[in-house]
Amino acid sequence: MSGDALTLTETILEVQNLKTYFSVGKAEGKPLFVKAVDGVSLKVKRGEIMGLVGESGSGKSTLAYTVMGMYPPTEGKIIFQGQDISMPSAKRSLSIKKDLQIVFQDPGSSLNSRQNVRQILELPLRVHKIASKNGLEEKIVQLLKMVELPPNYMHKSPASMGGGERQMISIARALATDPQFVILDEPTSALDVSIQAKIINMLLKLQEEKGLTYLFITHDLSLMRNIATRVAIMYLGKICETAPTEDFFQAPLHPYTRMLLSSIPVVSEEEEELKPKKVVSTGEIPSPVNVPPGCSFHLRCPEKREVCMEVDPEMVEAEPGHFVRCHLYG
Ligand code: SF4
Repeated sequence: MSGDALTLTETILEVQNLKTYFSVGKAEGKPLFVKAVDGVSLKVKRGEIMGLVGESGSGKSTLAYTVMGMYPPTEGKIIFQGQDISMPSAKRSLSIKKDLQIVFQDPGSSLNSRQNVRQILELPLRVHKIASKNGLEEKIVQLLKMVELPPNYMHKSPASMGGGERQMISIARALATDPQFVILDEPTSALDVSIQAKIINMLLKLQEEKGLTYLFITHDLSLMRNIATRVAIMYLGKICETAPTEDFFQAPLHPYTRMLLSSIPVVSEEEEELKPKKVVSTGEIPSPVNVPPGCSFHLRCPEKREVCMEVDPEMVEAEPGHFVRCHLYG
């Protein structure tokens, strides 16, 4: 695991009651919205790997894109290195863009296939004045070396490479500006299993060498057990639990977390012992345009009570540093 939780004190990113809604027409004369991100508050400490985990449609990528300024927030604030950056990307300063980067899930669509690697890596170096005209080639060679690719790759096009190599170029592009904070949006889920471990190891090595902070978005809880400093679980646009990784896996609190953990495969007896008893969903995931009142998990929750159907629970600190949004606590 990267970073010592006790020494991670400075907040580098804070989102406060962030909401990102998308209009999807009208029903009976009333506007309808998908509440993709619905009141998320989260702090990420400098130097940590924060794992943001959720099923498809939970809103985790929308949260990432809102932080990046690609979607305007409907409400709430994004504070990065002490500055309010809640405005769209086009209105952000160059220094914010330099320090805040993202690696997308699918390197095939995030890299311009009409450019070669040299052109792809040159752009951030020029925009952020990282290298002079004469120093560009040397810097590109350094970036390729950083992601374990030979210098002649600068003449290749992304289309001529495998998925793993394309993702290495995406990582080199994200790190070309020497950022402080990188959002990794499922960086290995589109890749062959054979290359996933190599990319993860590369990301961990770079994080340590450069003192980076990662917000690592994934649906893979097992991976977070091994690499994250803290883990947050997202369900239907809301964070339902967040805790330091050890507490999170040893004493999960939210019924949804326990449901997810009870269904992941384990490889050792020790892990089997820690695994919560099988928790079975009592219903289907609701439509994101028609989330029921009360706790958004109540249709699936085997522990629901009367209050859960009417009142949306608040996030409470059940244990030091361990936050949960559920009526069973607090
Ligand atoms: Fe289950 Fe109620 Fe907790 Fe929601 S608030 S997770 S329905 S017990």
